[in-house]
Amino acid sequence: MLRSGEDALAEVISKRLSAGGHDIIAQFNPRRIISTAARVDRTSIEQRPCFLCVDHLPPEEMGIPFGDEWVVLCNPSPIRPNHLSIVYRDHVPQAIAGRMETLLDLSRALGSAYLVLYNGPECGASAPDHLHLQACARDGLPVDAHIRSLAGSGGGKLERVVLAAQPELEVFVPRPYYVQLIVARSRDRGAIGRWFSSMMARLRDLTAHPSEPLINLVVVFDDPVWTVYLYPRGKHRPDRFFIQGPEQLTVSPASLDMAGILVVPIEAHFDRLSAEVAGDIYAEVTLPEEWFSVWLTVPPHPGGTGG
Ligand SMILES: [Zn+2]
Repeated sequence: MLRSGEDALAEVISKRLSAGGHDIIAQFNPRRIISTAARVDRTSIEQRPCFLCVDHLPPEEMGIPFGDEWVVLCNPSPIRPNHLSIVYRDHVPQAIAGRMETLLDLSRALGSAYLVLYNGPECGASAPDHLHLQACARDGLPVDAHIRSLAGSGGGKLERVVLAAQPELEVFVPRPYYVQLIVARSRDRGAIGRWFSSMMARLRDLTAHPSEPLINLVVVFDDPVWTVYLYPRGKHRPDRFFIQGPEQLTVSPASLDMAGILVVPIEAHFDRLSAEVAGDIYAEVTLPEEWFSVWLTVPPHPGGTGG
């Protein structure tokens, strides 16, 4: 499985698109159909054997322990090189509370060549019933380039709206941008953990979501500084996922998609994915603009994703 997955990764077709003036990559990756189209409703989940539980892993599969609670496994349907699943040993639901430190530790252990990600249980995790993280090669990650252009010396279109500028923690929002994104940087593991907890509490208040607020997370580490990309979401799948006919698009945005690698597992859908449609999808699944700008009291996004 892993070999054929790696072979398939070498064959994926990509195209560059502009989402609101920012370069992103659309990837035609037929191996991802199982994850992209996964049924994640409660009944479907309860009726299938959990593919992350050790009892159901292929007998040949080995992993590397990470601490006492986690096992690092190879992902047989990679989106990027060196794609790993980091799986909790016990069958407990996907939830981020109390786990940010694990993302940070994992990111530091893997080093700057990797990114680490978390998909919320209603935001792209195809096993919402079994706690897991992922990691993969970071090289060429679109959001890194977007944020670098903002940090550089002028010329870029992006501006930085600063939410916090403390000695131990920097938090900002890039605007105007194709999705809602909050960027936090620190070399202090505890400061990031406290910031993240307070952010999640505020998001919970704002969205009144009965369970975990909808989010995706990408974490990278450039020694000694962590960068956290937090993507608050408005919904899981765009309407185009569910309709039939020529408008249908089987995309199910998760962390990598939000960070600029939009995965499309069906060739005809990949062919019909234009920059405009990609922009519409992002606008639909990100946290609605009117909520985000009020919540963070950042200036509205001119001509942006409101409505
Ligand atoms: Zn399980």
